[in-house]
Amino acid sequence: MPKLILKIDVDTLRGTREGVPNLVRMLQKHQANATFLFSLGPDHTGWALRRAFRPGFFQKVSRTSVLEHYGLKTLMYGVLLPAPDIGKLCATELRAVRDAGFECGIHTWDHVVWQDNVRNQDAAWTQSLMQRSFDRFKDIFGEAPATHGAAGWQMNPHAFAQLDTFGIRYASDERAALADDGTLLNANAGPHRLSVQGRTLDCIQMPTTLPTLDELLGRTINAHVITTSTIAARILELTKATRDHVYTLHAELEGQKLAPIFDELLTGWRAQGYDLVGMNDYHRALESQTLPVSPTAWGTLPGRSGDLLLQAA
Ligand SMILES: [Zn+2]
Repeated sequence: MPKLILKIDVDTLRGTREGVPNLVRMLQKHQANATFLFSLGPDHTGWALRRAFRPGFFQKVSRTSVLEHYGLKTLMYGVLLPAPDIGKLCATELRAVRDAGFECGIHTWDHVVWQDNVRNQDAAWTQSLMQRSFDRFKDIFGEAPATHGAAGWQMNPHAFAQLDTFGIRYASDERAALADDGTLLNANAGPHRLSVQGRTLDCIQMPTTLPTLDELLGRTINAHVITTSTIAARILELTKATRDHVYTLHAELEGQKLAPIFDELLTGWRAQGYDLVGMNDYHRALESQTLPVSPTAWGTLPGRSGDLLLQAA
């Protein structure tokens, strides 16, 4: 049975408090499994407003309406309001996700700080932030995490090496390269081991192989504008020819205003014959396989501004 791996990125306090429980309910309704990746430290989303001064930002704001999805309060964290510490405030909510049977892992310590800086940072900076999220995860859950998914698909060689040091067995820190219409550019994209600076790492990478909702909404594909009413059909078109796929969703989007789209997707994927699973389920299925080794490279994806890590070759 082909697998649809559901990887849930949780970026903000609001997403943790409101989006996450909504997603748990929806997944239970569809008897689907998933992996939740949490932001465990300060919510500095307001600092992301600085991105407004970068090229490409305004186009993105109008497309996905950042204010509508994130809320005014979230956009003020770190600017006019102090940054709330998500892991401290929401430990009970996070444990409830684990207790409901879902795998939990690390997204980041501080989403904005990581996403905006990690590419050019040294080992000490990188390890210190990763150590904070690792320690916080252990404080909350009483055990070490098995998995990680990089904020904004941003990493550096020290960060990849640190995953092995932590004993993180599998992660999803990269994307597969996509054509403008969202189809895979490389049919062989998928789980692999990563070669970083000449060394093959133990941690298995499971790149996201589908576009995200915010990358598709508002774009014109095959002469049709993608709207909230047509986007689920577009994604289901991409998964029609079945193969294993990793889909990244956001507590702030699919867990809130875009929940009806996620509902459509879950129903559609079931009808297409997919097993809806978490990264842990996928890892179990991969354990007996010999995986290819490939490097990672900076690149771009249609509908997303800036560089991010793509599975190379
Ligand atoms: Zn994120």
